[in-house]
Amino acid sequence: YGDYNQKIDYVFKVVLIGDSAVGKTQLLARFARNAFNVDSKATIGVEFQTKTLIIDNKTVKAQIWDTAGQERYRAVTSAYYRGAVGAMLVYDMTKRQSFDHMARWLEELRGHADKNIVIMLIGNKCDLSSLRAVPTEDAEEFAQRENLFFMETSALESTNVETCFLTILTKIYQING
Ligand code: GDP
Repeated sequence: YGDYNQKIDYVFKVVLIGDSAVGKTQLLARFARNAFNVDSKATIGVEFQTKTLIIDNKTVKAQIWDTAGQERYRAVTSAYYRGAVGAMLVYDMTKRQSFDHMARWLEELRGHADKNIVIMLIGNKCDLSSLRAVPTEDAEEFAQRENLFFMETSALESTNVETCFLTILTKIYQING
């Protein structure tokens, strides 16, 4: 059954950020619809999807926003960050540059978002382990230094996708619930 006839206790906005092609859209598709499209084509314009779940006996509607390609033009606006209580900073573990850009994304996020925002660093595409360009320890160290949660995922194989969304939403609930 869907969202209707359900009393929603909380709506939590979570934004996905990171370079183009790291897998943000596919992570969202996997979490919200348990789908993966091999040829995902980013559309321009902000989009979000929702998923309702139960945390601590409360009905929580997660509203997950995807940049939908805006990041290619460095045009992610303050409206995108407005009201966000969580953020997922996504890099592609086979693309070192996408990890090196995390500091810049974090700076932009911290410049726009609420100071209590819960942030999770995500190294996506862990199914491509033979092409790994970012050691787990590098990401762990960055996450620890910046006070972020950290997880490696595969939207393709579903690895840790549910877990990372549940983790961030549970932390958000502990702060905002
Ligand atoms: P976005 O621009 O960050 O939204 O990235 P997309 O979700 O559109 O994904 C970019 C490309 O990476 C697409 O070709 C996806 O099929 C692919 N992709 C996304 N997630 C994964 C993953 O976990 N593993 C692998 N192997 N490919 C992925």
